[in-house]
Amino acid sequence: LYIDHPMAKGQPVPVEAAQAHYLSGVMRLRVGDDILVFNGRDGEWSARIVQIGKRGGSLEIVAQTAPQRDPPDLWLLFAPIKKARTDFIVEKAAEMGAARILPVQTEFTNSERIRQDRLQAHAIEAAEQCGGTYVPEVGDLVPLPRLLDDWNERRRILWADEVMAGPVQTLSELPRGPWAILVGPEGGFSDAERARLSGMAAVTRISLGPRILRADTAAVAAMTLWQAVLGD
Ligand code: SAM
Repeated sequence: LYIDHPMAKGQPVPVEAAQAHYLSGVMRLRVGDDILVFNGRDGEWSARIVQIGKRGGSLEIVAQTAPQRDPPDLWLLFAPIKKARTDFIVEKAAEMGAARILPVQTEFTNSERIRQDRLQAHAIEAAEQCGGTYVPEVGDLVPLPRLLDDWNERRRILWADEVMAGPVQTLSELPRGPWAILVGPEGGFSDAERARLSGMAAVTRISLGPRILRADTAAVAAMTLWQAVLGD
């Protein structure tokens, strides 16, 4: 369970109403039972339920069960698509260990707004499910030109490009270190965007094979490749 509260042995930790409902109604836990909690900073802890009710409850931290693990230095930049597919991308990015998930507005991106708070909640849920000790940060929608104008070249961009012919770039020859995977919207990138990306020293293009994948599939495929070859 993710609780944004300092954690140390003996520390009392409040539980919100929705989490209390999950613990008692869904997980059927009672006072005296132990659960695992994390706050994204201090590793994983076992905690005892001290009080639980409709309005919330409280826990007492018992002991640390795992140290804090830092996320791999991977970001995902993606163009938001339909709601359910955007939710899917955020959930999978959190599972795949992305440290930051940035929705990017490109020329052919249809949605002009996102619900950052909803997407952040999805990321927290996904992190809880796969026992992570950190929570990826979901950013607000940022226009691609602004993102690239402000880009810190030390983080390399792995651009998944369906137009690229030929075999997959040998990922194992790429340097380890901070990367951001970039996946386009359903309509792909415009000519102007393609020219801009092609001219950036920080950008490496990769193919995900000869088939044109849907954007959500491409995001998962690219993160899997990165994790398999460059992740540690
Ligand atoms: N521009 C294309 C079109 O409209 O026919 C399709 C874009 S594709 C549905 C969405 C995004 O997924 C692309 O911008 C790219 O980032 C990624 N993608 C899809 N298939 C890919 C492949 N085989 N290799 C690399 N990237 C791919």
